[in-house]
Amino acid sequence: MIYATHPLSPLQRLQSECAVKAPITISKEDYLKAILEAQSEGQTVISSTLAHWLGVSAPAVTMALRRLKRDGYAAVKASGVVCLTRKGRQTAYRTARRHYLIERMLSEIFGMPWYRVHDEAERLEHAVSPAFEASLIERLGETGACPHGNFVLPESPARMRKRGIFSLFEADLNTPLQVASLHERDPELLLLLHQKGLAPHAPVQVRTRSLKGTLSIETPSGTATLLRPAAEKIYVRRAPGKLT
Ligand SMILES: [Zn+2]
Repeated sequence: MIYATHPLSPLQRLQSECAVKAPITISKEDYLKAILEAQSEGQTVISSTLAHWLGVSAPAVTMALRRLKRDGYAAVKASGVVCLTRKGRQTAYRTARRHYLIERMLSEIFGMPWYRVHDEAERLEHAVSPAFEASLIERLGETGACPHGNFVLPESPARMRKRGIFSLFEADLNTPLQVASLHERDPELLLLLHQKGLAPHAPVQVRTRSLKGTLSIETPSGTATLLRPAAEKIYVRRAPGKLT
């Protein structure tokens, strides 16, 4: 794996990683990060996956993939599956790590609320210099969880299940749970969850589940209703003790 423990110092490592000749555009970084994150979540990445994730048109994805192929960042198999080259993976991982570090910096150093940091990090991740990134790694490390409970790269549901983490939608009724992590790509959803009293580490219980999949939940803020698409983006683990 390219992101295994490395013998070089953080700054040396970043300098060697950043020895790419041409500077990369923001749009390319966004595409590469989306491909790596979707793969990391266990998805098979095809053109429509990217259109959906990035909110862009199919022709825009086609154009972007053509450029990524031309510049040696990605390949598209005959089946349409998009893969990253080693260079593409390294660039994608660097962008994801900068995003993660910025989120932690904003939350842990500046005290910004967890539901606001993702959007800021989306903007700032493209402007981080290798020296600043090295300082952030030295200060924060790169193994802890981000303010949403996620690591540098998202985990697949199967991998989370091995750690006793599952989606709130799948949870048994009236069982004390704790929020482990939140899908963080949708800032509006994060704000909505905050308004309903949900946050990383917060206690939660599912009281009822309708035939259509709507949940009635209890959080520290009281009772709230959650539609299935939102409940599927909240990951929980069983918590000892009762909801207070
Ligand atoms: Zn995050």
